[in-house]
Amino acid sequence: MTSASTDNPAGFAFDNRYARDLEGFYAPWQAAQVPAPRLLQFNRELATELGLDADALDGPLGAAIFSGNQAPPGATPLAQAYAGHQFGGYSPQLGDGRALLLGELIDRHGQRRDIALKGSGRTPFSRGGDGKAALAPVLREYLMGEAMHALGIPTTRALAAVATGEVVQRDGRAPPGAVLTRVAASHIRVGTFQFFAARGEAADLRRLADHVIARHDPALQDHANPYLALLQAVAERQAALVARWMAVGFIHGVMNTDNMAVSGETIDYGPCAFMDHYDPATVFSSIDRDGRYAYGNQPHIARWNLARLAEGLLPLLHSEAEPAVALATEVIDAFPARYQHHHLAQMRRKLGLQGEQADDAALASDFLASMVGQAVDFTQAFRQLGELAQDPSGGRDAGLRALYLDASALDAWLPRWRARLALGANSGVDGAAGSLVAMRQANPVYIPRNHLVEAALSAAVERDDFAPFETLLRVLRQPFQADPAWAAFAEPATAEQAAGYRTFCGT
Ligand code: AMP
Ligand code: MG
Repeated sequence: MTSASTDNPAGFAFDNRYARDLEGFYAPWQAAQVPAPRLLQFNRELATELGLDADALDGPLGAAIFSGNQAPPGATPLAQAYAGHQFGGYSPQLGDGRALLLGELIDRHGQRRDIALKGSGRTPFSRGGDGKAALAPVLREYLMGEAMHALGIPTTRALAAVATGEVVQRDGRAPPGAVLTRVAASHIRVGTFQFFAARGEAADLRRLADHVIARHDPALQDHANPYLALLQAVAERQAALVARWMAVGFIHGVMNTDNMAVSGETIDYGPCAFMDHYDPATVFSSIDRDGRYAYGNQPHIARWNLARLAEGLLPLLHSEAEPAVALATEVIDAFPARYQHHHLAQMRRKLGLQGEQADDAALASDFLASMVGQAVDFTQAFRQLGELAQDPSGGRDAGLRALYLDASALDAWLPRWRARLALGANSGVDGAAGSLVAMRQANPVYIPRNHLVEAALSAAVERDDFAPFETLLRVLRQPFQADPAWAAFAEPATAEQAAGYRTFCGT
């Protein structure tokens, strides 16, 4: 149901709790006017989920609203304040320097969702920046977020991408400007807590924590120590999230504390990318020179970021410092085990293991170890393994073996896996067919491979040709369903395409 009317043809029904609850921690602001807004991409399905009238928005009205030229009825646009550790160094004031929260909608499932613009002009938090966004990174965030959603990974989503009709200045070039409309469970970050905590006013910090509990963890309101429970809940969501990233080879690229949402959604897609060859040291971001945010380091960084959240929450955990630190430390120290639990669950799914056996963690890590230094495509290896689940004889192993330079470690491992699958088949209800089906649902055929993403973005930006982008988006929306017509999308990059691949913040 929408509440469409002549004043509100798209049916926006805002209920802006952040603006109401947290006055003083944001700047009410308006988006910059842009000269010639053009709606490039519009997520009709998501609009409908949000209770909006997709038909009304799929044209000039959408272009006006999603460029920031026209605030939708009931919006209270604001720039949120936050702080954050960037590459380990603390910045006391970051905040929305090029983004605006328009407000919150209650979606068709009763979930509260933020609607925000990114690239909508300067704000009081812009520091030296222009507040704008270039088209390529806007489309990149659109594609990546939608791909992650289709992979079943909690993420912010893209509602619209609008070209502004002006250019932005970036590294001596002048690419077209764009605005992304992003939908999130909330935009509250670890860095939001750091900003409130740094003010030293426990009452303000409590206001934020109560807001987050009401929004994301209402069941904790009656908990004996709700703020400790909140820290545990955020840690739990991050453990689950990062385990899912690791399971698909996703590298966020900038896991600064201001880019970690307390909702447990993936947020702020910048120089992110998917790993092709399995290698824990994989880094694509040009600014991550020390590999702080390398693929294999992500669980450690999640813990590090949660420790910063815990520090911020200390005054709420206990009235005295020492017991507060003890409570926080316990949660942080428990994080690796939480993460391992989720990661093992992911690996069991990916390996088709039914039930639980004591050696499962070793079996999983030995499969990963078999790929190191072998130039094995991570995504293809798991998918191909799945096809062997119904082949106890090993007669069809050649396809998987061919991915390896030297398959001897794989050859030693496969019998162990087959023995384990047979165990599951005996005790479980599903048997080998069940493992195959489960593995096809756990191991994607299609991921946003770097060369495909780059080709789609350059066609859009350089030739105004959105066909490759839209085709890729369609493929990525069905990542588990192999289609012979899309065989090329499952192929790894050639050595030439993969050589020295770098991603940029490109904001
Ligand atoms: P990000 O790297 O996107 O996570 O952004 C880090 C911080 O820099 C945030 O406070 C952003 O709002 C700010 N920022 C990034 N790009 C711009 C820009 N073009 N103009 C103003 N602020 C920006
Ligand atoms: Mg950010």
